[in-house]
Amino acid sequence: MTQHIGELNPPNRLMLTPGPSSMDPRVYRALATPLVGHMDPWFKGCMDDTQVLLRQIFQTENRLTMPLSASGSGGIEASVVNSLEEDDEAIICVNGVFSDRMAVIASHTPAKVTKVEAPYGKAVDAEDVRRAGKGRKIKIVGLAQGETSSGVLTQIEPFRKVADELGALLVVDTVASLAAVPLHVDRERVDICFSGTQKAISAPPGMSPITVSPRAEEIFRTRKTKVQSWYFDLTTAMNYWGKERLYHHTPPVSLIYALREAMRIVMEEGLEARWERHRVNQLALIAGLEAMGLELLVRKPADRLPTVTAVMIPDGIDDAKVRNQLLDEFNIEIAGGLGPLKNKIWRVGLMGHCSQKPYVLLFLAALEKILLDQGLRVPSGAGVGAAVQSYTHVHSEAAVSR
Ligand SMILES: *Cc1c(COP(=O)(O)O)cnc(C)c1O
Repeated sequence: MTQHIGELNPPNRLMLTPGPSSMDPRVYRALATPLVGHMDPWFKGCMDDTQVLLRQIFQTENRLTMPLSASGSGGIEASVVNSLEEDDEAIICVNGVFSDRMAVIASHTPAKVTKVEAPYGKAVDAEDVRRAGKGRKIKIVGLAQGETSSGVLTQIEPFRKVADELGALLVVDTVASLAAVPLHVDRERVDICFSGTQKAISAPPGMSPITVSPRAEEIFRTRKTKVQSWYFDLTTAMNYWGKERLYHHTPPVSLIYALREAMRIVMEEGLEARWERHRVNQLALIAGLEAMGLELLVRKPADRLPTVTAVMIPDGIDDAKVRNQLLDEFNIEIAGGLGPLKNKIWRVGLMGHCSQKPYVLLFLAALEKILLDQGLRVPSGAGVGAAVQSYTHVHSEAAVSR
């Protein structure tokens, strides 16, 4: 009857997943600092710091820049419900589960939604969007810079061009790519850009940073109808994050502390150094996987998302057994496939704090051991050896793409 519940004592995992990623100890310390009220004058400074850091990471001067009190999916929701109303049309580029989620959420609005698709493992062709939008009045073009379900990176620029031709706002999901992959919101003229805190920023899950261009803000302000969601109406939410500091809802104060500290860590490293770190560690991981005889889902190197590597599960190997053994024997978590890729791929995340040399080498060694246990013939030490070679010979290119 009186069941005793013990003190919380979670295992100490290394989360090589597509999110959440493991966190720096400094972020845990920030989480554990004293709570204050969300209207406390001291907290105002903390909010200002958070917005300054978010603008630096998004590379923007947008006034409307704030963390939504919601996971990454809340960022998708806010982007589409604020921009779409009756008689509007949206084109959403779909090449996986998360870009499809944008189309699904958009279909909950009264707007007409057209999906332009690419197979999982490939990026959508901007030319297909041009064709789909021809002669139509399009309000938004939406895409995911990093499609987490397949590990595909999409280049933003060609879609900006097409969106300009169509007179559309460009909406970009950077949940899996912000702070890991080059992004310049202002220079690339992304109108609405959102992310999640638990991926390459390496803060706890539960917030969705978002930034909105002045042009999109103006469109929000001149809507004919009310935004269907009160909670995600960005014009009123900004009364709290803007000058007025009017109560809107109680934000997760401790998560904001943690986000602030995680972003300080991002900026101490520097964005370009961080982008380069993600690139180099993924190259080593890929070298190791290929040396072990494993194949990648994404064939074209330029299409590979540095934070998530999708590995084909070899014939005869049991997906769940491998992942369970990684967890039980090595305390390492990786992810399986979603939707049509379930049981077909593993997704190995190297995000933020987790994109580190020791973790890449540890993971390759652990995977070799487990594949051997499962009867796959893996050349001894090949994975770790190839990764070491990759670290030794891949010199960082001085000019990170700007
Ligand atoms: C993880 C992810 C989401 C969803 O984020 P949640 O925090 O799980 O709601 C959306 N888009 C992309 C690209 C993601 O990687």
